[in-house]
Amino acid sequence: MEGNKGTALDLGIQGMSCSACAVRIEKSLGKLGGVQEAAVSYASRRAWIRYVPDELEAEAIKERIRRLGFGVSDPGDRSAEYAAMRTLRLRLLVSALLTLPLLWAMAGHYAALSFLPLPDFIRSGWVQLGLATAIQFGVGLPFYQNAWSALRAGSANMDVLVALGTSAAYLYSHYVVFAHASSSDAHPDGMLPLYFDTGAVVITAVLLGKYMESRSAARALRESDGYAKLKAEEITVLRAEEARLVPASSVRDGDIVLVAPGGLVPVDGLVTGGQSEVDESLLTGESRAVSKRPGSRVWAGTTNRGDTLRIRTETTGDGTLLSRIDALLRQAQASKTGIQRKVDRISARFVPLMLLASALTYAAWALWLAPGDGSQAALSALAVLLVACPCALGLATPISLVIASGKLARRGVVVKEASALESLAKVEVVLLDKTGTLTEGRPCVAGMQPAPGWSAAAVLKLAAAAEAESPHPYAAAVREEARRRGLVPPAADNRIEWTGYGVAADCAEGRIAVGGRQLAQQERWSGMKRAEDFAAIREAQGETVLFVALGRDCIGALALGDRLKRESPEAVQALRMAGLDVWLATGDSAGPAAAAAREAGIVRWKGGMLPEDKLQQIRALQRQGRVVAMAGDGWNDAPALAAADAGFAMAGGTDAALDAGHVALLRPSLTGIHGAIAASRLTMRNIKQNLGFAFLYNVVMVPVAACGLLEPWMAGAAMALSSVTVVGNALRLSGRLARELR
Ligand code: ADP
Ligand code: MG
Repeated sequence: MEGNKGTALDLGIQGMSCSACAVRIEKSLGKLGGVQEAAVSYASRRAWIRYVPDELEAEAIKERIRRLGFGVSDPGDRSAEYAAMRTLRLRLLVSALLTLPLLWAMAGHYAALSFLPLPDFIRSGWVQLGLATAIQFGVGLPFYQNAWSALRAGSANMDVLVALGTSAAYLYSHYVVFAHASSSDAHPDGMLPLYFDTGAVVITAVLLGKYMESRSAARALRESDGYAKLKAEEITVLRAEEARLVPASSVRDGDIVLVAPGGLVPVDGLVTGGQSEVDESLLTGESRAVSKRPGSRVWAGTTNRGDTLRIRTETTGDGTLLSRIDALLRQAQASKTGIQRKVDRISARFVPLMLLASALTYAAWALWLAPGDGSQAALSALAVLLVACPCALGLATPISLVIASGKLARRGVVVKEASALESLAKVEVVLLDKTGTLTEGRPCVAGMQPAPGWSAAAVLKLAAAAEAESPHPYAAAVREEARRRGLVPPAADNRIEWTGYGVAADCAEGRIAVGGRQLAQQERWSGMKRAEDFAAIREAQGETVLFVALGRDCIGALALGDRLKRESPEAVQALRMAGLDVWLATGDSAGPAAAAAREAGIVRWKGGMLPEDKLQQIRALQRQGRVVAMAGDGWNDAPALAAADAGFAMAGGTDAALDAGHVALLRPSLTGIHGAIAASRLTMRNIKQNLGFAFLYNVVMVPVAACGLLEPWMAGAAMALSSVTVVGNALRLSGRLARELR
């Protein structure tokens, strides 16, 4: 499995003018041999590619993108994007300056503005021609370049509309200048009916819109970029008992790193010296500082709030939790949802459709509405070209998704696929696992019942030997109790773990097995009477009972207590208030299941469920047409998490959570589930507003333009403003989410 998963490549892309460009890059990369998956996001200006390194080099992928006419940069490095924004601003400025005299000349056409002094040179068609040419082919050159590369790839984008529309205006005026220069009959008021101003104003308006859009998009996206800033460039390491500042790339696993008070922890590792408090809020969303002492685990990207810490490096660079979260987030932000795919399909046909609409408008005016008045037909057709806006349409979905996933990540909720955010909004049932999900997952041994002839210590020792390598929280509890009592478990091998049942291993005394009642029944253990009596009492109190056997003989039982997480009842309540059905589905037996359900305020619960049963339960609910979310641990609930419409992996061992399900909850609390569902509902609503606006805009504006009611420059400005509106609405979402997700 691992082998054919390929390598991921993350890139920043510059020069996309609308989502049609993103689709074009995606298509082109898809055709490249060795590329398994390619996702390009116009909203976040990023690409995420999975490829087979044996068949293809990263450089070849970059080259392919450059050949399509786009810039490629390091994803963490926004400087290329800022540079692009500065260029855009410069173009806007030059364009505006050159347009001004043309507008001035235009103002002279209006009687109401005749008080304005109009210098003669501005009146001259030749001066106007010069200015217009500079705008059209100087400032406007990129429109042609982009339009050309789109057309060459068989697609059409916003640039095609702009290039075509402004060129038409320019050429028409051009023709007028020369026609009048050769014949000497001047216009009655000494002015030529030029359209240079139109092309120029449209270009300026479009640039203004693009600039405003990219500025507010940058503002909206800044938050999802935050991780890059959490990466240290230089790290203080201890070499030969001497503290030295070295470049981050030269730090190796095992190096001892020093983190001063207020400093950023630069690596994942174990504390070997010092005691302190660490702020992990940027990683997990947990605002309380966490205390750290020798033996505690710390993660890169967290901040030391207390005294100096010594940390033994375990993971650096791209392997750290922070980097992995960052990569997952970028992948998610580049991935597409169902809605977005539909919109992309529509947008792809949009530009050709508008070219047709424009041609029809021309024909209708020229042949039917105003025969003989070529300029009216031309102006209306031009307005249709310029008002149609595929950009607002393409921007509507991704920008809101990027904002929402960025905001959630900051609160310890990592959405790994954009489509999960879409299904989350529709979730009706939430299935919760018990151990480690609803409860702390840090159970401890609360009581023991050895079989006749056995001591508690002997049973515990053997149980701990069998549990020596299991990642289950119960195994940890058994080991911890043995350690606490100073017992050293005997060596064992031939380990087996039956997920949802228990474990077994061979040691000198024979084969030892530890597990729940189902395991004992399955294996037909004998001498269960005393253990069962003990279990009946303890389970009624809500404790979990494990049975221990040597061979097939039961040699004792252990009762484990696990506390509900402090926030669990509140989180369950919030989910129910949001109209969701909350179920508890646990592998534990009925007693502890009922107790946990009662304490957490859950009405529907089911015990004795194997991971497989949880999976079947989810499928059954889905067959009834219900949308199901499941929260569980990343390892034995992984299949159920994958089958759910939205699977939340709880951060028990933090790392496993990142691999399972669709959403990783880095803070070990259920409150993130409600937060994610609430956020997704808001986000989907925002997206629908955006799409609704974008559709409505085109449905209204295109006919208005076709009827000749819009001046071409107004059409250009309206187009530019429509995407600004969409970005503005997405920014509103950003504020709303910030208030909602506290
Ligand atoms: P939950 O659904 O509460 O997370 P699991 O599916 O992890 O429960 O486990 C179900 C049951 O299987 C446990 O209640 C326990 O009886 C048994 N079990 C699973 N793994 C182990 C183990 N490593 N040691 C002992 N018992 C185990
Ligand atoms: Mg579990």
